[in-house]
Amino acid sequence: MKECPICLKDFDNINICITDCNHEFCSICLNKWLDRNRLDCPKCRKNIKYFNLNENTTRIIEINPVITNQNDNQNNNLMVELNQISSRIRDSQNLININVKLKKYLFVSLLVNITLLTSSSYLYMNDCEINFL
Ligand SMILES: [Zn+2]
Ligand SMILES: [Zn+2]
Repeated sequence: MKECPICLKDFDNINICITDCNHEFCSICLNKWLDRNRLDCPKCRKNIKYFNLNENTTRIIEINPVITNQNDNQNNNLMVELNQISSRIRDSQNLININVKLKKYLFVSLLVNITLLTSSSYLYMNDCEINFL
């Protein structure tokens, strides 16, 4: 009579998982084993690629932690680049605003100069007198 090598229960009335390395375990034990992130066969220590249970094949896919870390780094780099680009856009908008202010200032000062020359504005003249004194 066969039994599960982990819990030593008879295989008669329980679900039997057969790994690709041809080792048999009850489904409860193998699932507990896999739940602990163990991907190696409890008996021969080969990595389990798949196991059969009631004629259903379950494939085990390992997600490589190095690859996920690289993806994290790539995401971080992308975020840093995005932040740099958005700050550059903000900077350029500030530059445009400064230019507009500068142009406005130049225009106003030009107007003031014209009114000074033509003496058409009394207020400007007064300001000017104060400045001249
Ligand atoms: Zn078992
Ligand atoms: Zn095995």
